[in-house]
Amino acid sequence: MSEFELIRDGEQAWDVVVVGGGTAGLSGALTLARVRRSVLVIDKGEPRNAPAAGAHGVLGREGISPLELLRLGREEVASYGGRVVSGQVARISRDGAGFRVVTEDGQHLRTRRVLVTTGLVDVLPDVPGLAERWGRDVLHCVYCHGWEVRDKVIGVLGNFHQALLFRQMSKDVTLFLHTATELTDEQWEQLAALGVAVVDGEATGLEADSQDQLAGVRLASGKVVPVQQLVVAPGSSRARVFCASWA
Ligand SMILES: Cc1cc2nc3c(=O)[nH]c(=O)nc-3n(C[C@H](O)[C@H](O)[C@H](O)COP(=O)(O)OP(=O)(O)OC[C@H]3O[C@@H](n4cnc5c(N)ncnc54)[C@H](O)[C@@H]3O)c2cc1C
Repeated sequence: MSEFELIRDGEQAWDVVVVGGGTAGLSGALTLARVRRSVLVIDKGEPRNAPAAGAHGVLGREGISPLELLRLGREEVASYGGRVVSGQVARISRDGAGFRVVTEDGQHLRTRRVLVTTGLVDVLPDVPGLAERWGRDVLHCVYCHGWEVRDKVIGVLGNFHQALLFRQMSKDVTLFLHTATELTDEQWEQLAALGVAVVDGEATGLEADSQDQLAGVRLASGKVVPVQQLVVAPGSSRARVFCASWA
């Protein structure tokens, strides 16, 4: 009998079901478990930063592997009696004074409260070869990985603000205009003052070297501009909305 079936058959009403077991969900679960709330975390296991080698700016655990951080978090939740299971929540609906949580595989759980911590899903620029390098040498966050790419040859794809941020980490920054809207005169002046090169034209692909390290950005003209790191500004979509009307 699976863990879920045991939970369902008991028809146990949890104090809190936490949907999503990333850092937010596990932190919430830890705090709740420590005040003797019965807590169940259901996690699909696809945290946003999974592709990254290290999580940075994490006090006391600087540079730890994101997945190791979550493994430790799950242990901490369990050490106070919280439960963490793998699974995907499909639907949440009102059930009397509480809620009913339904998983993708059809398990039904009752709970007094729900904590939804499903995170974000990054929507990456549609440039061939880019998604495969995400979290390695295609980056988005100067506070997360700026130090790791300091003094490297950095390209920034279509985002003026990111170009300014990463100029703090390297003197060799190129802004690829790609599909971005025109820069203002003031922005051109700022980039020139900081020595940021600007390349016109749409990026149509990425080039890697024989070690599978990023080597350049290919433009529609066929020209390849050498870079070691590429910074993008991904869009984001919230994890699928699964909360039925609670009215
Ligand atoms: C490449 C990259 C590197 C990063 N590096 C850093 C860094 O160095 N330092 C830093 O502070 N921040 C970093 N971040 C940001 C960090 O990843 C997020 O701030 C953090 O992951 C947010 O935690 P979260 O718990 O809200 O969401 P997530 O970590 O995304 O966790 C959400 C969890 O909910 C699960 N889930 C979603 N839907 C369901 C469902 N229906 N049922 C069950 N489970 C579900 C997901 O699978 C996932 O496991 C980075 C982000 C990226 C993309």
